[in-house]
Amino acid sequence: MERRGRKQDVNGEMTAAVLYGEEDVRIERVPIPQLGDGEVLIKVQVALTCGTDVKVYQRGYHARMIVPPALFGHELAGFIEEVGPGVRGFKKGDRVVALNSAPCQMCFYCSKHQPNLCEDLLFNNGAYAEYIRIPKRIVEMNMLAIPSTVSYEDAAMVEPLACVLRGLHETGVEIGDTVVVIGGGPIGLMFVQVAKAIGCHVVAVVKRDSQVTAARNMGAHDVVQITQVEDPIDAVRMLSRGKRGGDVVIEAVGRPEAWQWAIEMVRKGGTVNFFGGCASGSKVQLDTDRLHYSEITLKATFHHTPETVRKAFALITEKKIRPTDYITGEAPLSRLQQVLHHMLDRNGDIKTAIIPGD
Ligand SMILES: [Zn+2]
Ligand SMILES: [Zn+2]
Repeated sequence: MERRGRKQDVNGEMTAAVLYGEEDVRIERVPIPQLGDGEVLIKVQVALTCGTDVKVYQRGYHARMIVPPALFGHELAGFIEEVGPGVRGFKKGDRVVALNSAPCQMCFYCSKHQPNLCEDLLFNNGAYAEYIRIPKRIVEMNMLAIPSTVSYEDAAMVEPLACVLRGLHETGVEIGDTVVVIGGGPIGLMFVQVAKAIGCHVVAVVKRDSQVTAARNMGAHDVVQITQVEDPIDAVRMLSRGKRGGDVVIEAVGRPEAWQWAIEMVRKGGTVNFFGGCASGSKVQLDTDRLHYSEITLKATFHHTPETVRKAFALITEKKIRPTDYITGEAPLSRLQQVLHHMLDRNGDIKTAIIPGD
């Protein structure tokens, strides 16, 4: 088997992060993936840490996306090192961003225009590595060429942004609405920025001092710091028009307590989006009177679709969203374990750019 363009790699090996379990990620030498029909090999230039990765690191698994031991990481951009047989539209050297999944386009859910719920959603992990293999389906459906005016870091933000755009769209939010965002992590902050950009009045509900500053920088009109108020629900209501509560409340924490707050923070006739996935087995008690007589709409959006991926990428290429606001640090791949461990303490870092060595 010939090894085009990577003769410098001894025995066809690369450095990559392998997830073994709870708080156990090791940097190892593993074989460079071999390409099949329609696949490409990307030389990773940047991989971004994500709240999901921090959760996966903490829990040691992800019910839908990853079963250890496995290559790890899913937000990446780089250039094509090699194209497999039958690849059309891409060539060696192209700068690209590849998403972490692609739907099948054939199953029940795909036919119902809910491709994020695809019965055969193909996930791809392994961004924290020198190279990553991109399966045919993702190459064809969810890999995008990066214009020369857009950096790898910016392009790699497309995945979380696509989830956020879809999440906001599904709430039916309108210009002028009061949008309450619970959670000051990267996803919460992205909701703040997008909601502000489309003309909403944004109230951010966060915990840490660093998140107060970050939420303001992203354009939040009001910030409620839960450690500084007696009752976060009251505090949010006081900030809404007529103290009715938010038109839309987005839960971007992934804790049952925050899910319950969301229901109390929304106005009559408003919409809640439970965006943050809780630990499996979590249960939440709901006030049925409130849901019924106040006609609260409950949504829970998961993941992205090829359509929202393209919308998100357009926002990035048009510089409407400032992705580099989210990247608060940079580290070599060899320090991934320390970076993730550090992020468990929610130390003020939003996202870290992980740079694989040569
Ligand atoms: Zn992500
Ligand atoms: Zn499908």
